[in-house]
Amino acid sequence: MTPQARYDAVVVGAGFAGLYMLHRLRGLGLSVRVFETGDGVGGTWYWNRYPGARCDVESMQYSYSFSPELEQEWEWTERYPSQPEILRYLEHVADRFDLRRDIRFGTRVTRAAYDETEHVWRVETDRGDRVAARHLVTAVGCLSAARVPDFPGAASFRGPSHHTGRWPHEGVDLTGLRVAVIGTGSSGIQSIPVIAEQAAHVTVFQRTPNYSVPAWNRPLEPEYQSWVKANYPGLRRAMRESHTGLLDPGNPGSALEAGDEKRAREFEARWAKGGVTFLGAYGDIGISSEANEHAAEFVRAKIREIVADPEVAEKLSPRNHPLGTKRICVDTGYYATFNRPDVTLVDVREDPIVEITPTGVRTAAAEHPADVIVYATGYDAMTGPLLAIDITGKGGLSLRRKWEAGPRTYLGLMTAGFPNLFTVTGPGSPSVLSNMIVSIEQHVEWIADCVARLRAGGVAAIDADPLAEDAWMAHVNEIAGQTLFVRADSWYLGANIPGKPRVFMPYVGGVGVYREKCDQVAAAGYEGFVLSS
Ligand code: FAD
Ligand code: NAP
Repeated sequence: MTPQARYDAVVVGAGFAGLYMLHRLRGLGLSVRVFETGDGVGGTWYWNRYPGARCDVESMQYSYSFSPELEQEWEWTERYPSQPEILRYLEHVADRFDLRRDIRFGTRVTRAAYDETEHVWRVETDRGDRVAARHLVTAVGCLSAARVPDFPGAASFRGPSHHTGRWPHEGVDLTGLRVAVIGTGSSGIQSIPVIAEQAAHVTVFQRTPNYSVPAWNRPLEPEYQSWVKANYPGLRRAMRESHTGLLDPGNPGSALEAGDEKRAREFEARWAKGGVTFLGAYGDIGISSEANEHAAEFVRAKIREIVADPEVAEKLSPRNHPLGTKRICVDTGYYATFNRPDVTLVDVREDPIVEITPTGVRTAAAEHPADVIVYATGYDAMTGPLLAIDITGKGGLSLRRKWEAGPRTYLGLMTAGFPNLFTVTGPGSPSVLSNMIVSIEQHVEWIADCVARLRAGGVAAIDADPLAEDAWMAHVNEIAGQTLFVRADSWYLGANIPGKPRVFMPYVGGVGVYREKCDQVAAAGYEGFVLSS
């Protein structure tokens, strides 16, 4: 064990959130130590190196806004940035702002305990570090705890198997191999067409078909890039004030009130534009089953149009959840991939996976030989990475115990009983329902301002008031309950993890409204928080 070092702040994670948090706190003159499990910066974009990995927020919007110089100097090459390009961008950010010197890579935080006498967090890592810090910021990511289901026999498989979120850095040559892909969420849908181009045969194991809209990715037009750069201040403001953190404000009109013809035109136009803003076609898609069904049926009709075999088209057609209640997917050639003779779709609701054998995947009806297994099976989202750390707050209260029935936070920023512990894009904030970079920047800036004000005022600790937390959670649940989100077995609700409490975790109220609320709370002297000297 090394002797205990002291810092003003410890930050966990070196993705978009951790890097910016470090930069801001350092700008306040604080001593900061960042711990990162990976051997480099980038978070999501460090880990997710699977074939076809790409962002589905446009590059000009999926980038930091805090530095006008950075904004102007970085040149994006495609409408939607690929994983390597985003990673290059974050490596550039780390170098440009000289961030690496305060980051300890290859080091996982295992434990954090609040010391009430000294008002500090005592943090431990898997490498034997023991450090103390007044402030602890978790920037651990909402989608960083990769999950491989516990299939019987998985360890007996003779070939390599890879989770999309832990893809080998050197890449995997799939040429001429038989590949089994389990999972058809965003990662599966992005990777399957690219894998199919290399592999001899792909067997796709689908439990739930998803709605996917084409990306129509293309090189970024230089004129568009210049126009955005010239107009960044106003565009960024619009994104911050919007519902989703995206430039497309969405159409507030009603799908039910629009006639068949107008509705079809709107959906066609959105499909032709491509991307997640398909959801913005009408304001009632997220709240009215009937309105939603129009959008859902439009996508199903597209699937029938693209996929030659009507039986396969039907299997690919989502029918058990409304459109957008699981994260909408964005693809390049996904549905058309099922027209290839070397791609087979297995519906595991009809024909469940029984076990993984040394040579493939066995379902109730057949053995599917495979040389490689790709687990595109998702994440223990939002709470997973936080609860993987043994966190104890006041009176020895453990976070795992406190969140046994689901996460509880005030504004998604703090949880009562855990003073000076901030969660960037934590449960109870818009986070995963938004352009994450907009939400990350908002949280980082709020936290940095808060820390600065506490220090200036000689305040040793800030904690959420349990009553304010109760009221916030009631609000989060109430408005989620008014939407269709609660009708799907999604990771937003923890439904993908056996035994995880079914609680809708993100805040659906919108990025702009939420920011205003956070700003009002701060302006009112941190209303709903308890400050102690
Ligand atoms: P992350 O990037 O997840 O970084 C967190 C870091 O914390 C990780 O590197 C992890 O190793 C580290 N960490 C966690 N626990 C510990 C610990 N105990 N000790 C030390 N280190 C730890 N969002 C969008 O808005 N648009 C998109 O199109 C989009 N596409 C995505 C595609 C994929 C494949 C995935 C998985 C996510 C996508 N997201 C997207 C969400 C994406 O996670 C965020 O946009 C953003 O990158 C999150 O940044 P972050 O810094 O908060 O978290
Ligand atoms: P995901 O959306 O959770 O998808 C996991 C898939 O694995 C689902 O199809 C799921 O089926 C299936 N699955 C899980 N356990 C299974 C089991 N035991 N048997 C059979 N199938 C099983 O995970 P993801 O695709 O990695 O995406 C996670 C999130 O990351 C996305 O929602 C998105 O926010 C982000 N992401 C974005 C992009 C992008 O395009 N920008 C790309 C990748 C990821 P069920 O649906 O039935 O649970």
